[in-house]
Amino acid sequence: MRYEGAVYRPPSEAYSLIIQVTLGCSHNKCTFCSMYKDKKFRIRKLEDIFEDLQMARAYYSTVKRIFLADGDALILKTEDLEKILIKIKELFPECERVGVYATPKDIIRKSEEDMIKLKNLGLKIIYIGVESGSEEILKDIKKGVTGNEMIEAGKKVRKSGIKLSATLISGLGGKEKWEKHAVESAKVISKMNPDYLGLLTLMVERNTEMYEKIQKGEITLLSPKEVMIETREFIKNLHVSNCVFRSNHASNYAPLAAVLNEEKEELLGQLDDFIDGNCDFKSEVYRRL
Ligand code: SF4
Repeated sequence: MRYEGAVYRPPSEAYSLIIQVTLGCSHNKCTFCSMYKDKKFRIRKLEDIFEDLQMARAYYSTVKRIFLADGDALILKTEDLEKILIKIKELFPECERVGVYATPKDIIRKSEEDMIKLKNLGLKIIYIGVESGSEEILKDIKKGVTGNEMIEAGKKVRKSGIKLSATLISGLGGKEKWEKHAVESAKVISKMNPDYLGLLTLMVERNTEMYEKIQKGEITLLSPKEVMIETREFIKNLHVSNCVFRSNHASNYAPLAAVLNEEKEELLGQLDDFIDGNCDFKSEVYRRL
């Protein structure tokens, strides 16, 4: 396969065929993110995307899932996305799910009819990096999106019938804003009511603005126990239904899984075990992005 630069995908797309339809991220300003710093954003030509799909068809006998990378495939015009999804149907009739990362602004720009058209052509899951529900933290990290836009986008995805997967980052407000991060994120996620919710834990890379802020003492990282206290506060305030919650990414200090709110009490109990010192945290050396 032909890939340009580093390619990122959600953990649940580990076995998917990855096809780059854009290169990089159209926003590329978040203070904690170094993923696409080396890439100038552009949308790839349709003929190049089709060629990649044909190459993959010649190489793989069965493809059940396809993830359209990089940062925000939904920025493509609906008619171009339709052509890509139709080509996928022609070449990979066995494909059960196509997924994309999308920014809330991409989603808000699309009409409800467009979203339904895309769903009917095979777009089955959209991943949104919410990161935090706190307006203050969203501004601090230069996310370029408000909590209300996150909610509007999330509701639109769910209304279209496409599965919604949202991601938050523990520790993003540091010791200074952990409580705001927990409570406000719970408010936003409760209103979005995603099908899947992933919780990563902040890891800071040197080539980011966040790293510089930490060096200057503007943000203080949470300890593993403080991450659990923040997570507990978040879960306590969360009101969702039938949401598959996972915090088992390589960046996390502790593996957590539950269906929320149905298994909320059990999850709070697990968090208490970590907070009370009854369970060990993952060692810092084993954490990864
Ligand atoms: S976090 Fe997402 S939106 Fe922000 S710069 Fe990174 S890829 Fe782009």
